[in-house]
Amino acid sequence: MENELKPMDSEQLRENAHKMVDFIADYYKSIENFPVLSQVHPGYLRELLPDSAPNHPESLQDVLDDVRQKILPGVTHWQSPDYFAYFPSNSSTAGFLGEMLSAGINIVGFSWVTSPAATELEVIVLDWLAKLLKLPDHFLSSGQGGGVIQGTASEAVLVVLLAARDRVLRRVGKDFLGKLLVYASDQAHAALQKACQIAGIHPGNFRLLKTDSSTNYALDPDLVCQAVSDDLAAGLIPFFLCATVGTTSSTAVDPLSSLGKIAKDNDMWFHIDAAYAGSACICPEYRHYINGVEGADSFNMNAHKWFLTNFDCSALWVKDRSALIQSLSTNPEYLKNKASQANAVVDYKDWQIPLGRRFRSLKLWMVMRLYGLENLQSYIRNHIKLAEQFEELVAADPRFEVIVPRTFSLVCFRLLPTVHDQDNGHKLNSSLLEAVNSSGKIFISHTVLSGKFVLRFAVGAPLTEERHVSSAWEVLQKHATTLLGGS
Ligand code: PLP
Repeated sequence: MENELKPMDSEQLRENAHKMVDFIADYYKSIENFPVLSQVHPGYLRELLPDSAPNHPESLQDVLDDVRQKILPGVTHWQSPDYFAYFPSNSSTAGFLGEMLSAGINIVGFSWVTSPAATELEVIVLDWLAKLLKLPDHFLSSGQGGGVIQGTASEAVLVVLLAARDRVLRRVGKDFLGKLLVYASDQAHAALQKACQIAGIHPGNFRLLKTDSSTNYALDPDLVCQAVSDDLAAGLIPFFLCATVGTTSSTAVDPLSSLGKIAKDNDMWFHIDAAYAGSACICPEYRHYINGVEGADSFNMNAHKWFLTNFDCSALWVKDRSALIQSLSTNPEYLKNKASQANAVVDYKDWQIPLGRRFRSLKLWMVMRLYGLENLQSYIRNHIKLAEQFEELVAADPRFEVIVPRTFSLVCFRLLPTVHDQDNGHKLNSSLLEAVNSSGKIFISHTVLSGKFVLRFAVGAPLTEERHVSSAWEVLQKHATTLLGGS
């Protein structure tokens, strides 16, 4: 039969995959020509695609034409060198090759036996990365702890929260769930709130302690001490403290050593969320930002943010893997096998929410092998240098102010409100944001700090060079001039 389906014919794969790689390489070659932020309206795609799937095969060429004409206009180009929004989500040739290989082999490595190499490579590359970050030995696989790749930082904080919750409930009794308390700063990522919702933590028992500019939005340990002792006096049970290194709004760094001590003194699980800034700590000059990690029960960084590893790859280390396993393991008959029964292997299904898992360690391995530590360090340093330059440009223009001193590659700034401004520059800066983003030339994002509407300029896309940062600044200045009524 001429049209017989051959879904995994190797010659067809070779031919089509070559075409796809060409398509992707051309995309990267011309990526600067697209509006960074997609300019389509909601529902645009339904107007362009048929209502139902085809009965008969279509050609790859037809599909690629549709991608070019209908899909790419609806893409926001995270890999564009003019992308400065949120935090970066890096791709790289090495990361891409790893993803490709993972898709090619396409195993589902939930237990060691389902693909021993997938589990063993993950254990090894997380030990490698832990060593690059100079994490304490108890996070290495040789001790009681170890590393695991989660999809996202949100999953990472959820699994450790579950482990911590169950650990404390084993101690105090399962009827005390309603008394358990979680602490973090009001700058902690909303992923923690979601994790609390899922873990059944009473909404009133989630303490987000206030921060302000006096600590550059870092958590004040005295506030934590006070809250913990008030809560203990009220008969409640503090059990989880989350610190952030590189908060989402402004890259604040919580004081890990003091917080770790509070956690230890009160028998609380201490988690560190370094989703974005963790990558910088492979450079000796930034490693001090995670001093105090020795006191943590768990530490997380997203290799898919700023470590050239294509999404998704969130590295989580725990000090005591048995806590995770006690919360998350199941042992159904249909998954039993000799290696697992003998307790001789890691079964990563017991370290995460889903059963199925991809061979994600391949891309992290590729990134570390094909680039090497020195290149990775220069990569980080270059972005930080570009952010420094941007910060200087902002500081030199009297119409603008830098809101918090820059720590990594994020600059928080705003247009100063005029004397008669009724809303402290909120409308002025949100209009500037809207204007520059809808120009399609750059994409930046915003936050609110101490009631101020703040613009966030995060350097970190792999293709960004000095010229992109200077022209982004020109775009911002031009729109600011228009908004302020200049010519
Ligand atoms: N934690 C911090 C500090 C973040 O900045 C982010 C996202 O930007 C997250 C957690 C959530 O990351 P993910 O999308 O991997 O869940």
